[in-house]
Amino acid sequence: LDDRDGVIWLDGAFVPWRDARLHVLTHGLHYGGGVFEGERVYDGRVFKLTEHTERLHASARELGFAIPFSVAELDEATRALVQRQGIVNGYVRPVAWRGSEHIGVAGAGAFVHVALATWEWPHVFAADAKERGIRLGTSRWRRPAPDTAPVRAKAASLYNICTLARDAADRDGFDDALLLDYRGHVAEATGANLFLVAGGTLHTPTADCFLAGITRQTVLDLAGDLGIPVVERHIAPEELGRFDECFLTGTAYEVQPVRSIDAHEYRVGRTTTALAEAYARLVRSADRGAAARAAVSP
Ligand code: PMP
Repeated sequence: LDDRDGVIWLDGAFVPWRDARLHVLTHGLHYGGGVFEGERVYDGRVFKLTEHTERLHASARELGFAIPFSVAELDEATRALVQRQGIVNGYVRPVAWRGSEHIGVAGAGAFVHVALATWEWPHVFAADAKERGIRLGTSRWRRPAPDTAPVRAKAASLYNICTLARDAADRDGFDDALLLDYRGHVAEATGANLFLVAGGTLHTPTADCFLAGITRQTVLDLAGDLGIPVVERHIAPEELGRFDECFLTGTAYEVQPVRSIDAHEYRVGRTTTALAEAYARLVRSADRGAAARAAVSP
């Protein structure tokens, strides 16, 4: 990914893609002092751009540092970058991290860097994954407690757990992992939130120790529009056999049907399909909310 033509936005300027490098003594590398975002470009526009940029700022605050560019400045830089790179259907990766001014866990005094990169990226899983659904295996790794880690932040340091879980799932022949939380409740996948359907009602875990995704909220709103009842609650793994349908939500995953979790099988049913179609329409529609409208204004 580092050997490409094009530009990356780094600390306020466009730099050639291959020159967007950092020092080996970076705090973000040694101690995990970094936060990031994942955004999706549809038809040349970033979906819910301002929500993502605001979450980048909020994640940095959770880790105790401030991003030296305003939300409006980063939104503008993102739009300029997407346009300059000519991205039509792709992904944007904003990242902010503490620099290499000193060594040690203390965060104060480190310069905060920010970068934005974008590339074409049509889908995350195989092209037929949306029709067939993906297979999840329950991980032995768990989401930590809110007094153990900054669980509300999209913090790079938290993604070690996801990498361990995802690599084990890959080795075991699954497409992704389901992580339980520190109490043993069903939590989320490695980069997406989880929904289950029983008797036409949506059930999703209460997001009290993991990222309450922007897509999760979008799907909850769409369920409201479509008259689909929703229950947010703690879900025990012993209940997983009682549901008819299951899907994941995330910026990259979109609405991704799940075919199985361990030995439990699900169908790509009516509720999942209705929400997946509504989401696919929304991300490309003219009315994508205030943030999207701002994205097209001059
Ligand atoms: N959980 C985790 C761990 C994630 O990495 C993501 C992707 N950002 C999500 C949930 C879904 O969040 P969103 O819908 O905002 O992309």
